Amino acid sequence: MNQISLPDTDVMYQALLHKDASFEGIFIVGVKTTGICCRPTCHARKPKANNVEFFACVKEAMSFGYRPCKVCHPLQPAGETPDWMKSLEQELSQSDTMKFTDQDLRERGLDPVRVRRWFKKHHGMTFQAYARALRINRAFGLIKHQDKVIDTALDSGYDSVSGFHEAFKKLTGDAPTRSKTKQVITITRILTPLGPMFAGATEKGICLLEFTDRRMLETQLKRLSKLLKATFVPGKHPLFETLNQQLGDYFAGRLKTFSVPLDIPGTAFQQDVWQALLKIPYGETRSYQAQAELIDKPLAVRAVAKANGDNRIGIIIPCHRVIGKNGKLTGYGGGLWRKQRLLELEMGRWQSNSSHANHSVHQSDHAAVTNSNNAPQKEQAIL
Ligand SMILES: [Zn+2]
Repeated sequence: MNQISLPDTDVMYQALLHKDASFEGIFIVGVKTTGICCRPTCHARKPKANNVEFFACVKEAMSFGYRPCKVCHPLQPAGETPDWMKSLEQELSQSDTMKFTDQDLRERGLDPVRVRRWFKKHHGMTFQAYARALRINRAFGLIKHQDKVIDTALDSGYDSVSGFHEAFKKLTGDAPTRSKTKQVITITRILTPLGPMFAGATEKGICLLEFTDRRMLETQLKRLSKLLKATFVPGKHPLFETLNQQLGDYFAGRLKTFSVPLDIPGTAFQQDVWQALLKIPYGETRSYQAQAELIDKPLAVRAVAKANGDNRIGIIIPCHRVIGKNGKLTGYGGGLWRKQRLLELEMGRWQSNSSHANHSVHQSDHAAVTNSNNAPQKEQAIL
């Protein structure tokens, strides 16, 4: 993880006002009112101090829902951006689907491996991860900071959130229409010491809890929407308050078992696997083999691993407690470093409060869920 710390907020805001080029590469500014992130020297009109938050890199800004500015192109570090990158960024931002396969890249005379490496080196993410974040943010980040839009939309029924629906349709390729839709999944963003997560809730319970940069997020959203014949609507839900509280206690090391109700549609086999996950005690780990034996399917180790990966309720259904036979950490949708942190937290080797600053360089007025004084309502309203 990144361990850079940012300059003082005041210093950065002054640098922003003066378009101070010496701060290029030091910070990225997110403008809360537009959901756009910029370089310090952007020529766009400067936002008020209370409407900005600062990040160390574009990747971090994007994980909080921001999209790169089309005026200053924060993805193009000064003086080192190849031409192919410029045209690729432009094409992607104008594309409807915002999807580029390796074949698409090859057709443009680009080597997918090289493209991925360049992105990874300069922005700490792959090109595919960038494109994905862009799609997610167009669907969800767009309304992140516009509480008024959400309130109005909720007041007059969710069909009026047309921008959201349009974006969601592009995201999943299949937005449920109202006639097919019987249910609503209320979705929000919850901040944790390990990064922002998407949370979803139905009348029955929490149906989604995933890190926003999770690789299979779009697939998970699409599946959930189909399984529950439901449509996603950003907003508030009484269960989010409980969830926020319990996550806060969990990250503070005070909570070992979650009691917030869950809504987890899936096959009988998946249900068995997920219930078996819930039986792994806090702070302990199990192998996939042991989990397969627990549900009386000792030969179905791979299927168990697959169902583990299909878990949509991160942290609460503790798929992070399953490790390889040799004790090595294996795949985790939210990233291996997070899996390690979660296990360290549960084993009392990591305190999210004290080391938060080392693991997240994000500085803003956001409070992580560990801050118990923070009114949860505020966080839930920002999606
Ligand atoms: Zn800009």
